[in-house]
Amino acid sequence: MSLRPVAQKLADLLGRHVAFADDCIGEKVEKTAGALQPGDVLLLENVRYYNEEEANDPAFAQKLAKVADVYVNDAFGAAHRAHASTEGVARVVAQRGGQCAAGLLMERELKFLGDELEKPARPFVVLLGGAKVSDKIQVIDRLLDKAEALLIGGAMAYTFRLAQGYKTGKSLVEPDKVDVAKAALAKAKQRGVKFLLPADDVVAVPVKTDKLDKKGKPVIDYQNVRVSADMNCPDDAAGLDIGPKTVAAYAAEIAGAKTILWNGPMGLFEDKRFADGTNAVARAVADATQKNGAKSIIGGGDSVKALNKARLGDKVTFMSTGGGASLEFLEGKVLPGVAALSDKS
Ligand code: AMP
Repeated sequence: MSLRPVAQKLADLLGRHVAFADDCIGEKVEKTAGALQPGDVLLLENVRYYNEEEANDPAFAQKLAKVADVYVNDAFGAAHRAHASTEGVARVVAQRGGQCAAGLLMERELKFLGDELEKPARPFVVLLGGAKVSDKIQVIDRLLDKAEALLIGGAMAYTFRLAQGYKTGKSLVEPDKVDVAKAALAKAKQRGVKFLLPADDVVAVPVKTDKLDKKGKPVIDYQNVRVSADMNCPDDAAGLDIGPKTVAAYAAEIAGAKTILWNGPMGLFEDKRFADGTNAVARAVADATQKNGAKSIIGGGDSVKALNKARLGDKVTFMSTGGGASLEFLEGKVLPGVAALSDKS
């Protein structure tokens, strides 16, 4: 948890000495900060050693702000939390007339997830995957107002299948979200937004083994891996990736796009046997960016992991560093860590 090793890395990157204080508040910090000369850098210890940080305790924020003239926040990934270091301290600095600004990374996040998607070059195609409809439904709802097409993959797609009356076998589904899925389908139809669901899947039979994973849950072995174009999943099987027909259809949509937003893998991509769909859309997004000049914005989390694994990270326009923060921002929520800034560009 200590930031001490970070001080060394920061020193290497900056090419200058970085002092480190083993606390983030208090006399020692104030003294060390007070002795800084222009150009000196001091890194304070991890604020999360104090419970007051996550509680956004006003007295703690005051203590943090004691050594600050201005406040710069570059932690977009934590901006959806109103903590003392992301929100409280900014308020204290602002009250004193100090500037509260976005750092360069934060500025880029706000530009790409905000401005670029506010007025996207069209067609604007959104690719959404991942495990749960419940995590992404607000994003889906908001993007149905903005995009020309939504392409759905991952386990999330099977809750939509359930909503269409198909059998989903042992696929990961959220039966209590069927109504939400139906509402999204109806909204897409009403607004004339293309809403693509998988036309085929890679399915397999999950079998519990005696082995336990890190969380103590039985490791699942997947047997009889095959492509199925039957919208009804076999009773003993689970859908684990989009199939080749779906890949072709999604790649064609992506190739015609001028703006692409991608969040969430197309399948259980951590297992090589179910990574083809995610890898293929990653390639399609990279190609559209490189060959057609499309702007591609990757909404953080597992899609970033998948792109990096496929060594395509530098072939897209922007990869968000936020997970939860990116999603909340895409939902249109005001992030407390962003709201606290007076200067965002
Ligand atoms: P999320 O955090 O909601 O973006 O979900 C990402 C996780 O969903 C990854 O760990 C994927 O392995 C998992 N996932 C995606 N598709 C499936 C699927 N069809 N079945 C099971 N897990 C999946």
